[in-house]
Amino acid sequence: MILFQQSNALRGFLESQKAQNKRIGFVPTMGALHAGHISLITQAKANCDIVVCSIFVNPTQFTQASDLETYPRPISKDIELLEAHACDVLFHPSVEEMYGSDLSKDNSNDYGSFVHVLEGASRPGHFDGVVTVVKKLFELVRPDEVFFGQKDYQQCLVVQTLINRSFNTIKFNLCVIAREADGLAMSSRNIRLSEAERILAPQLYLALKKAKQLWTVETWKTASNEALKEIDSNAFTVEYLKICDQNTLEELSHFQNSAVVVLVAVQIGKTRLIDNILIDKD
Ligand code: AMP
Repeated sequence: MILFQQSNALRGFLESQKAQNKRIGFVPTMGALHAGHISLITQAKANCDIVVCSIFVNPTQFTQASDLETYPRPISKDIELLEAHACDVLFHPSVEEMYGSDLSKDNSNDYGSFVHVLEGASRPGHFDGVVTVVKKLFELVRPDEVFFGQKDYQQCLVVQTLINRSFNTIKFNLCVIAREADGLAMSSRNIRLSEAERILAPQLYLALKKAKQLWTVETWKTASNEALKEIDSNAFTVEYLKICDQNTLEELSHFQNSAVVVLVAVQIGKTRLIDNILIDKD
């Protein structure tokens, strides 16, 4: 694997690969890699000739300074893991390399009504930060295909909108959520859970599965309330659990036999967890 920290060097290398008609697959991450990230790398390897992974903890998408400060950064372990999975290129820039001295966010475009709900409402400005860094990375890497995890479902919608508007030659791949054996969605933040919190954390997936099971024409009214009962209200603060349209993220107030997504966000101790489940139409 070749490691680049400078944009110009990466650009030069990728141009030489494109001149040889190599297809470039791109997996942007913030590091602290786990099997979920690796599943994206594996999918990119299967579809493309050269796989570029970026590791960059993007300051402009954090809404809490303490979250940014304590975000795990085990770079040597990450490099080992990427090498073990035959990733071709790692781009690991500094904040200065990505932003210079200007940490302002791109808030010039509205990426759809779904930017303002759920994560957008809980973390104001978060998606402006995501769009800012993803744009910079796409302009630099100019990938043929990109790989994003359904784990961050709302982020996927925002990135798809960005691609449709400004990068319409890029193929977007939505990759399934990798889970621990007990159902907890893998996340770089899971290592912050205490032993007791880790035991309770799979309740999120139980709640999502319950909502999915109850999302029928007869039981839709109680689906989200029954799902919430799976989550221990003494241990968790539920920010939202919502059944929404898969394309618009509009919350559904009636049964719809169409593409639906159930999304949940909770706080447990010092850790914020998100998860979701898709319900496709019959
Ligand atoms: P992050 O490092 O958290 O910014 O995530 C980088 C990419 O990995 C994003 O596209 C995430 O959606 C994806 N990802 C994170 N967790 C998982 C998971 N458990 N399964 C699949 N993809 C994931």
